Amino acid sequence: MGNIVAIVGRPNVGKSTFFNRLIQRREAIVDAVSGVTRDRHYGKSDWNGKSFSLIDTGGYVKGSDDIFEEEIDKQVELAIEEADAIIFMVDVETGITGMDEDVANLLRKVEKPVFLAVNKVDNSKRLENAVEFYSLGLGDYFPIASTNGSGTGELLDAIIEALPEQEDDEETELPRFAVVGRPNAGKSSFINALIGEDRYIVTDIAGTTRDSIDTKYNRFGFEFNLVDTAGIRRKSKVKEDLEFYSVMRSVRAIENCDVCLIVLDATRGFDGQVQNIFWLAQRNRKGIVILVNKWDLLEKETNTMKDYEQNIRKEIEPFTDVPIVFISVLEKQRIYKAIETAVEVYNNRSKKIKTSELNDRMLPIIEHYPPPAWKGKYVKIKYCMQLPTPQPQFAFFCNLPQYVREPYKRYLENKLREEFDFTGVPISVYFRKK
Ligand code: GDP
Ligand code: GDP
Repeated sequence: MGNIVAIVGRPNVGKSTFFNRLIQRREAIVDAVSGVTRDRHYGKSDWNGKSFSLIDTGGYVKGSDDIFEEEIDKQVELAIEEADAIIFMVDVETGITGMDEDVANLLRKVEKPVFLAVNKVDNSKRLENAVEFYSLGLGDYFPIASTNGSGTGELLDAIIEALPEQEDDEETELPRFAVVGRPNAGKSSFINALIGEDRYIVTDIAGTTRDSIDTKYNRFGFEFNLVDTAGIRRKSKVKEDLEFYSVMRSVRAIENCDVCLIVLDATRGFDGQVQNIFWLAQRNRKGIVILVNKWDLLEKETNTMKDYEQNIRKEIEPFTDVPIVFISVLEKQRIYKAIETAVEVYNNRSKKIKTSELNDRMLPIIEHYPPPAWKGKYVKIKYCMQLPTPQPQFAFFCNLPQYVREPYKRYLENKLREEFDFTGVPISVYFRKK
């Protein structure tokens, strides 16, 4: 089960600088591969082996200066409801402002862990000045400087300490499917079609406890849990179509599932937001099925489906081994196929390949095309095994792991996919010294 940490605070205190610092390194790698750079406000971070999703709520504040305040209050309320822990960031340079006090008032009543981060503490004078933030009534604060990272380690230590333990019981449970996508893609319609109107679920999500998120279904001969997203309506004053809210929900759902059913509206295509969701699911190593909904609305010619599919595959490179199912919830077309595919992906993700079989199949392939020499060094791969992790990870043992280059790693990943069928599942390949 994943944890969500939200950063709140007024504009310009340094939230996005801090956010980028925490997720930068790994995002940069992903981006280099896909060639995409985008402004992202949520990402995955880890510290001392514990990972969490980080959301910069400031990225979702819209509007001009004068409506900021109301917007920020909304973000904070949502963060309070949805996140597991909250970082409240303030700025030592400006000192306490009225807006800071408002936010502090909201946060003082919260039972979740709240961390007061006093940012821009770049020198000892500012360290002294930071004391004034005690008056916010939130207890101890963390003096940090997001630009150079000072103090962030202590803050992260404290956050990790406060987050609930992550359970690793994925294998013993039913498949958990999350239906995610942009507003209006047809997620609720899809869920309703699945479970039947009469069995519309109402779950009390006030506590957002883990247990209330999953709801169990038995349909088409499969038993699975649906992880809460759009289907469950909240009874809060905050508008549902707030982008931040839907993002928060998606992140939570993705964190808590085994397989993401990413629903998109065929008339809108695979746009940036869908790509973000895809990327997040992939980074979280979840199974993925893409459902192109509202297929009934498209004028179709001979190659429409094939072309559409190819375009999506281009968008999701290099992880293209993902099932794409064209559905129409309205006409109840291929709804069963969608669930069947999700079950297949779930099974692929929990697949365990015996070491003997793995070596029997992979070693001849490696022998036929060994890692090319690099800087005059020859890498000899001796054997491989699947690691006992909930999602597929493979270790290849060799003499000089540091000399194996990215293309060869991808080559092995592709061969593993060809030999064993990991459709819809991100897999990891590691090289270890032996
Ligand atoms: P946000 O609106 O809260 O996301 O704030 P930004 O991250 O965009 O930062 C606002 C400004 O504060 C930028 O000019 C940053 O370079 C600056 N800033 C952020 N962190 C620090 C810091 O630790 N020290 C100093 N001196 N400036 C910082
Ligand atoms: P959500 O916001 O993703 O939960 O989307 P909804 O399920 O509320 O659907 C948004 C709109 O799309 C509604 O008006 C639905 O009736 C419509 N819709 C959903 N699925 C289909 C479909 O397969 N075909 C067509 N034509 N409309 C659909």
